[in-house]
Amino acid sequence: MENAAVIRDLLAAWYHLRRRRLPWREDPTPYRVWISEIMLQQTQVATVLPYFDRFIEAFPNVYVLAAADEQAVLGLWAGLGYYRRARFLHAAAKAVVTDHRGVLPDTPDGLRALPGIGPYTANAIASVSRGYPAAVVDGNVNRVIARLLALETEVNTSAGQRLVQSAADALLDRADPSSHNQAMMELGALVCSPRQPRCDACPIATECTARALDAWSRYPLKRKKAAQKRAHEVAGLYRRHDGSILLAQRPDDALLGGLWELPGGIMPRGDSRKSALARAWRERLDLRTDIGAHRACVEHVFSHRRLTLEIYDVRHVVGDPQPSWYPAITWRQPDGLHQLPLSKLSRKVFAALGIAV
Ligand code: SF4
Repeated sequence: MENAAVIRDLLAAWYHLRRRRLPWREDPTPYRVWISEIMLQQTQVATVLPYFDRFIEAFPNVYVLAAADEQAVLGLWAGLGYYRRARFLHAAAKAVVTDHRGVLPDTPDGLRALPGIGPYTANAIASVSRGYPAAVVDGNVNRVIARLLALETEVNTSAGQRLVQSAADALLDRADPSSHNQAMMELGALVCSPRQPRCDACPIATECTARALDAWSRYPLKRKKAAQKRAHEVAGLYRRHDGSILLAQRPDDALLGGLWELPGGIMPRGDSRKSALARAWRERLDLRTDIGAHRACVEHVFSHRRLTLEIYDVRHVVGDPQPSWYPAITWRQPDGLHQLPLSKLSRKVFAALGIAV
């Protein structure tokens, strides 16, 4: 890239003046950068900020995190979504303490050997916290480079990824990889935004091919994803005579693993909702049920599917609930639900039922 040095300098000057003051930037230890990078996967900075502060306060270093109860880790993650991230983070903390004497590996290869750390996150942690010369390519950087070069290859294909990565490598400021990588990501987040890039305020506008062609909206080119799948599920609200509610914990290897929910299951095509719910409680809790009134319907979008969840009262059960598909069950008064790690979906369910958590 002929103009790489010019772009680097313009970007560095802009970042020095305009960067947001974020807690993980002000004190970029490997541990703090790691936590922030995992939280920032699929989640906006504004959402992450309070979670980051609470998490660091509860688990100020890798030893405290490794020794923590998994339910406590999930509890502080509740609402951020993509809970596998928290479970991997916890597992990786244990590995760092056991296998690395409490010090995160300092190279991308070493970091990638830990659970939940892929190539992007490994490069980000190593470069931002330790100045390792590796170019970071996230969604923001993809967009900036695709526009800068007016890239005619779809960026979400492997050929596109290779092209973007090699352009990012060529552009990398090897004297200060930490600031450079953060500047590229910051430019994509604050200036070169997906729908309304502020080209007039862009520090590298003079070097940008898409801008010269007046064609920013064409880039980045993307191959269309398959349509999102639809899913239907049912769940039951059962209260004991003392008012407590039956909750079940999802299996580790399932979506939202380790989190608690009103028990239920999938609704096979052609089945009635009530019989699907009765079967789910029989198969997953070994309970015979008398299903009552329909209480609520909740829509929730996961990354790969759109779920419609129908919730019914369970009027009566025969037997005691036995964990089987669900590894554990518990009874909680409504005012004690907040003590359990709940997914965003479960929070929506309780809100729809008029139960504050
Ligand atoms: S000039 Fe516009 S399109 Fe080009 S990098 Fe800057 S903000 Fe993005």
